[in-house]
Amino acid sequence: MKIGILGAGQLARMIALAGFPLGLEFVFLDPSADACAHQLGEHLVGDYDDPELLAQLAERADVVTYEFENVPAEVAKFLGERTTVYPPPKALQVGQDRLVEKTYFRDLGIPTPEFAVVNSVDNLQSAVARLGFPAILKTRRLGYDGKGQVFVKPDTDLAEAWEAVRGYDCILEAFVPFKREVSIIAARSVSGEVLYYPLSENLHKGGILRVAECKANDPLQAQAEDYVSRLLESLEYVGVIALELFEVDGNLLANEFAPRVHNSGHWTIEGAQTCQFENHLRAILDLPLGSTAAVGQAAMVNFIGGLPETKDVLAIEGAHMHLYGKSPRKGRKVAHATVRSISEEEYKLTLSKLFQLAENLDNS
Ligand code: AMP
Repeated sequence: MKIGILGAGQLARMIALAGFPLGLEFVFLDPSADACAHQLGEHLVGDYDDPELLAQLAERADVVTYEFENVPAEVAKFLGERTTVYPPPKALQVGQDRLVEKTYFRDLGIPTPEFAVVNSVDNLQSAVARLGFPAILKTRRLGYDGKGQVFVKPDTDLAEAWEAVRGYDCILEAFVPFKREVSIIAARSVSGEVLYYPLSENLHKGGILRVAECKANDPLQAQAEDYVSRLLESLEYVGVIALELFEVDGNLLANEFAPRVHNSGHWTIEGAQTCQFENHLRAILDLPLGSTAAVGQAAMVNFIGGLPETKDVLAIEGAHMHLYGKSPRKGRKVAHATVRSISEEEYKLTLSKLFQLAENLDNS
């Protein structure tokens, strides 16, 4: 059985690593010849919308999936006419546009921060008058890791804020004073079997995920499961999904979802009975899903913009290193480390040591 993946970055690499024990083979399509999954399968090098290469991908793969959500609609359609594509293209269409996504959440009864459509400086003014300060101006499309966002405060010059995102349709979102950010990763198979991972509690810096901690028995688990299940059923979803949420006043508000395996679920590699990558494959191949239960305390720390010495990570008891095979560049995620299942005291110490290694990269 051969799986086609659009994209050959670290997510594709980790999907392939999880698929090898199941006897699966992989073919990737990615514009970069040295994309980090390339040694794990056949690599078609070229643009994501190259019809020749897309046809080859569809021809060679039994099922095609993707590692990023900005797959153009016509690409998903082209592939869908030639082979099986999971998650369903509808999930891409909803998830690619913040306005469509937030409206979709609302229609499913999933609460979100207040938002308003903005497509001129005039309606930025009226949106601010309605939502109040502070607020965040976000481009509707192609924003990730905090890119395409402007924080709007009482002293912000609205004309300048609009200038910063000029040319893009936007939404203005009320800035919510969240207690914490969490995400729920879930998997739904072709047959409709659904399993949920324990919540991840996520720490961001500069809009980029730094640390994700597994929170087994979190009081908000049931609410998160309820929200993500509405999404899964309504989209007739197949594969792994991640729903990112804010905790405000003891309740959850949805920020966004990713129709793919997710950085906040990397702790599942060592920290869950079955990792998100394996369950994504099981889901799209209609195999029984594997238990999502945590195997102990678990967390993940991203290494961004630089790499600590592998020996320094491995010298920390309970830590596991995951290198992506990418050369370091400012703001680039190049590796992560996980920690799992040791005594509470050791766990905290290990996590703080890993976090310190990651912080040192920022300051170097
Ligand atoms: P996003 O690209 O929408 O995931 O935003 C990146 C990060 O900005 C989030 O993880 C939050 O830390 C922060 N953020 C985004 N939207 C809001 C909001 N409405 N209120 C407060 N913080 C937000």
